[in-house]
Amino acid sequence: MKICFASSECTPFVKTGGLADVSSSLPDALARLGHDIKLFLPLYDSISVLDHGFVKAADLGCIPVQMGNESVPIDVWYGHLPESAVEVYLIDCPRFYNRGTVYTNDPDEADRFILLQHAAFHIMQRYAFSPDIIHANDWQTALMPAMLKYTYAWDMLFARTRSFLSIHNLAYQGLTDSSRAAKAGLPGDVAGLGDSFSLLKTGLMTADRIGTVSPTYANEILTAAFGEGLEDVLQDRSKALTGILNGIDTTAWNPATDLYLRHHFDLDDVSGKNLCKQDLCIEMNLPFKPETPLIGIVSRFAAQKGFDLLMPFLSDLLKHSGVQFVVLGSGDDHIESFFEQISVQFSDRFALYRGYNEGLAHRIEAGSDMFLMPSHYEPCGLNQMYSLRYGSVPIVRKTGGLADTVVDVDEVPGQGTGFTFLEPRPHVLRETIERALEKFSHKKAWLKMQRRGMKADFSWKISAKRYVDIYESALLSTCQT
Ligand code: ADP
Repeated sequence: MKICFASSECTPFVKTGGLADVSSSLPDALARLGHDIKLFLPLYDSISVLDHGFVKAADLGCIPVQMGNESVPIDVWYGHLPESAVEVYLIDCPRFYNRGTVYTNDPDEADRFILLQHAAFHIMQRYAFSPDIIHANDWQTALMPAMLKYTYAWDMLFARTRSFLSIHNLAYQGLTDSSRAAKAGLPGDVAGLGDSFSLLKTGLMTADRIGTVSPTYANEILTAAFGEGLEDVLQDRSKALTGILNGIDTTAWNPATDLYLRHHFDLDDVSGKNLCKQDLCIEMNLPFKPETPLIGIVSRFAAQKGFDLLMPFLSDLLKHSGVQFVVLGSGDDHIESFFEQISVQFSDRFALYRGYNEGLAHRIEAGSDMFLMPSHYEPCGLNQMYSLRYGSVPIVRKTGGLADTVVDVDEVPGQGTGFTFLEPRPHVLRETIERALEKFSHKKAWLKMQRRGMKADFSWKISAKRYVDIYESALLSTCQT
């Protein structure tokens, strides 16, 4: 199958969250199944083309892309995902992508990604690449299904092409003004335009198939509580909607070989984990106490992640329970400054690194005893799967992908891999953390639980095949279902 995969982020070139990991590991898994993939991504100023071995696609030259009344010139760089057959095309347009950050609040934010989508179609045209599937991801590339049906409908190259839109997070919808539809070459009535234009909603209405990244989230988004105002559209398209659990990159995230660790461990010998804990404590300036449970957090600091449930009792918990925390993240100012203040007050029990640090994320997974994700909603979540693989027992709210991957040890005795809670209230989270802290002292049972988590298979093997099945079902359909 020929597949066009378009995304605003992709590991190892540019990452702000889980979308980047999936945009790398899913195409790679599909290529390993024998499919032919072209991946399209903006060339942000943070990406070094030389470090990643990209070369200018001189055969394409400078391509003028028509955006409404304006012609925007782009260059294209060509390369591969590391050790993969996936071809990567970087869209070079300094005017749009040299902004110092991946996402902006600039007035032309939608234009930046409309350009990416036009560019993908132009490059496919230049190479006469006739994709079976266009796989778009989140609002930044959500117009591709509509552009396929309208803007580029004249081109027979795409006559058989079907579209798939993945929702990684419904909360970000790409709302802009209705004038942008013309820039994408779309007629105003496609998105039922009033004064505003929702790029994600347009994608949901026009994609042949819609996917989201866990079965539970696929059900949740049909309700008003999780649907972010799009539940009606999603209900209308529910026959086209599937939830497929993300896989993880089991090479990059392997405690036996992880390049970011000085010590390693695996299912047969977990002893190296304690050395990783010691390294982590030294790195984060905490006293190393093997018998004191260490809880890790690696996260964007956003309302979604549920830290408001932790804040009311964190200081009391640190005063009264034997527990340490290592926290890595950045985002909302009030969450950052709260954690900052706690780290000053409890400097021997709570360590904070503000910012983004890939290596430290791996060392926290390896060195923590437990990993906390109290998310209000979580489309899939990757960190809890990394945690399970690294023997860091997850404490999670039972929602979305967290509910699909973590089994509560008290709910299903003998099979549990972590601790879950449902009601989003601080005292319920506190009880759950305290339940975990109590269990930590039962060494034998704890080790068994850790090993059950480490054994779980979160590779792309099964999920990538499910994507192929759905692509095939879309190809068999003649129109939207
Ligand atoms: P989301 O996509 O909502 O941010 P996920 O759990 O799906 O959440 O994915 C988050 C990814 O980003 C994980 O790979 C995690 O390790 C990484 N990550 C998040 N914050 C940081 C950070 N501050 N430093 C390094 N990695 C981070």
